Amino acid sequence: MEETISQINSLWGRILERVKERLDDPMIYDSFFGDSKILRLDGNKMIVSVSTSLGATLISMKYTELLESIANDVTGTNFEFEFVSRDKAAEAEPQKEEKPSFFADSRLNPKYLFSNFIVGGSNREAYQASLMISNSPGRLYNPLLLYSDSGLGKTHLLQAIGNSIKERAPSTKVLYISANDFVEEYVRFVTSYKNDQSMTEFFKKDVDVLLVDDIQYLINKSKSMEMFFVAFQNLVSRGKQIVLTCDQHPSKIGGIDDRLRSRFSQGLVLSIERPDLSTSEEILRSKIVASGRDVKDFDPEVISFLAEKFSNNVRELEGALTRLLFYTINMKPTHRITMDTASAAIRSLASIGEDKSKLSEKKIIQVVADYYSLTPSQVTGKIRTSRIAMARHIAMYLDRTLLNTPLIKIGETFGGKDHATVINGVRKVENSLKTDPDMMTAISDLKSKLGS
Ligand code: ADP
Ligand code: MG
Repeated sequence: MEETISQINSLWGRILERVKERLDDPMIYDSFFGDSKILRLDGNKMIVSVSTSLGATLISMKYTELLESIANDVTGTNFEFEFVSRDKAAEAEPQKEEKPSFFADSRLNPKYLFSNFIVGGSNREAYQASLMISNSPGRLYNPLLLYSDSGLGKTHLLQAIGNSIKERAPSTKVLYISANDFVEEYVRFVTSYKNDQSMTEFFKKDVDVLLVDDIQYLINKSKSMEMFFVAFQNLVSRGKQIVLTCDQHPSKIGGIDDRLRSRFSQGLVLSIERPDLSTSEEILRSKIVASGRDVKDFDPEVISFLAEKFSNNVRELEGALTRLLFYTINMKPTHRITMDTASAAIRSLASIGEDKSKLSEKKIIQVVADYYSLTPSQVTGKIRTSRIAMARHIAMYLDRTLLNTPLIKIGETFGGKDHATVINGVRKVENSLKTDPDMMTAISDLKSKLGS
């Protein structure tokens, strides 16, 4: 089972509420259950820690049946219980790696802020609405829906709303999730709890501000849409803020429930357009500064050349700058960036992209190692700290996707791993690419460094 700590705590909290109602002696409740918690779920067994070992024995003699029946009411599933004392639990507790997940983690990326979002005619309304909503969530428009083509700043604004709310009121429960992820987690959640209601319960408890990115992923997923509808109604009726993004106006989305479509449009719907030239230039200048370079090192025509060429998509504009900086640092070290340098950089890197024979496993490993400040042998070795393991999975993923290297060969390159381990590594990257903006940035940076 994939429950997160907050899900488990919330489940136990609900069970305890009922236990409290059913025990008529508050002193018994406090003494035996007051500081109990679920240590872990092991299949259908809940392992619960209580303050003393005598307590553990007494509870299991007297209250097992009561707990089983309450747990069944709350979850719709039969659970068994095992009680252990806290000291025992401390010895036995397995060292689990914390993994970020749905309800435990707001999934906000601190790099997306209002302060580094460049405002121009193309995005001013979307920016202003986002700013106001982050100032008074739940009180203005619900939901706010931003839509645009790819790469124009929807995720940036959505995350900025979350970050700004968290900064102002850290205890606010903000959840950022891509609709794609929502669908996956919903399916996983329902298969483990077999009960839609429990998911709604979690929304009731856990979310003050729900930020859902790319709702077009709900198209044709009728069960998830239904669930989303319930959660949506529930949150809006309690004054919780919802902000959504989509790749088109909701009226144009096909394959979506009409009720949901009308809910999506009931608040404020705003579009983000392509930036005009001066906004693109300003975005580019801000990215140059953010990368630690001085705008004065760039000839002005380089700025306007890039801004014009990539004005359809800010992500591509960033990618072009990354390539240019990579070229001027690694391939032709130069301080001043002239038009000649810029066009040579674009030509040169494009030619690497065309000539795949220059791209090798060795080069991928080297570039990934540099990117994460590791040595190539760490990347291919056996150390499993999370950062090194992540770099290793990324290198495997690039090896597989850019060079189409056979899994067995990848396994050999990476220290004699079997092909299942390689598949596992590649999948991890593929999965986090769906939801994790950091992973997306890393892969796109790495690909441009590799000229792909
Ligand atoms: P979308 O979600 O619309 O596809 P993103 O929000 O992911 O687009 O934006 C793509 C990249 O461009 C991100 O790195 C983002 O920070 C950057 N970006 C987009 N618009 C702006 C802007 N107005 N100012 C600064 N950066 C921007
Ligand atoms: Mg996005």
